[in-house]
Amino acid sequence: MLQRARVAASLETIFVNTPILAIVGAPVALVVALRYGVPRHAWIMFGAMVLATGLGTTLGFHRLLAHRSFATFRPVEWMFTILGCMAGQHSPLYWVANHRRHHRHSDRDGDPHSPYVWAGRRLRLLPGLWHAYFGWLHANGFGYPASAVADLLRRPDLAWIDRHWFQFYLAGVFLPGAVGWSVGGTGYDALIGFLWGGALRHFAGLQGAFAVNSIGHLWGSRPYDTPDQSRNSFVLGLFALGDGWHNNHHAFPSSARHGFHWWQPDPTWGLIWLMERVGLAWRVRRPDPFRIRAAARAAGLTATGRDPSSTARCADGIATWRAGPIRPSILGEPSHG
Ligand SMILES: [Zn+2]
Ligand SMILES: [Zn+2]
Repeated sequence: MLQRARVAASLETIFVNTPILAIVGAPVALVVALRYGVPRHAWIMFGAMVLATGLGTTLGFHRLLAHRSFATFRPVEWMFTILGCMAGQHSPLYWVANHRRHHRHSDRDGDPHSPYVWAGRRLRLLPGLWHAYFGWLHANGFGYPASAVADLLRRPDLAWIDRHWFQFYLAGVFLPGAVGWSVGGTGYDALIGFLWGGALRHFAGLQGAFAVNSIGHLWGSRPYDTPDQSRNSFVLGLFALGDGWHNNHHAFPSSARHGFHWWQPDPTWGLIWLMERVGLAWRVRRPDPFRIRAAARAAGLTATGRDPSSTARCADGIATWRAGPIRPSILGEPSHG
């Protein structure tokens, strides 16, 4: 078990498990804005930081580190991993270990944030919703088995970022204040920059992640008959930068693409696709369209009761890798899934 140092762990308890800066700072940001107004730089920093730290989580922590659904150059990995640290959802290795545990035990005992079960007890709707949305942050300790992230622990560069993740989080909170100060030149510009680009942005970003964990397993469509209760949702799909196509993701967890159709917007996939086009991403994993159709057909047959034997248990439907040759990296070996 990897345990974080006591001081670091207590700081993290204050700022992350009970995201005090987000919970206190978000209403203060709104009250101050109503009273004194929001300069344009604060709006811009809010939007830019929501997007940047959101992609740090969905593209960096989730699709790159947790699922290794594509490979990229190390500086690009560092950038998205640091942006993920700034999102304030704990350290990259803890996040990845926790998320891999979620996939291994989805909606069964052992899942850290299932709305259906916790510690051997079945949860009713509202307690389950609360546990999966926020309560789970207090139900789990900081320890995680090293074996869950053995591939990442072999990387000293990622381990270094992991050790310093909290400093990156604080930098992400205070940077918008510094930008406000440099643009507007007054103490109020610094304060409103910090409140909107730091605290309120942290609060908003957390809602996307919490909603996927909870609502993404409660309400929405299930085109694939996965062994869990994951759901697809258009609103969550958009709001969580594509991670809300959660049934698709549980059916094809290694796929870099979560929105499988043009009507399933997936901004994170849009960026990975663009990175691949310009040579910044390779070994991009996509689900085979045939497997997508076959899994959906099998799920439909099961739902109508015509062919219960054909239940599609899509542990991972990635059948083909439409991957180009592995590019030699001038700055280090490319990552392997
Ligand atoms: Zn899930
Ligand atoms: Zn995942």
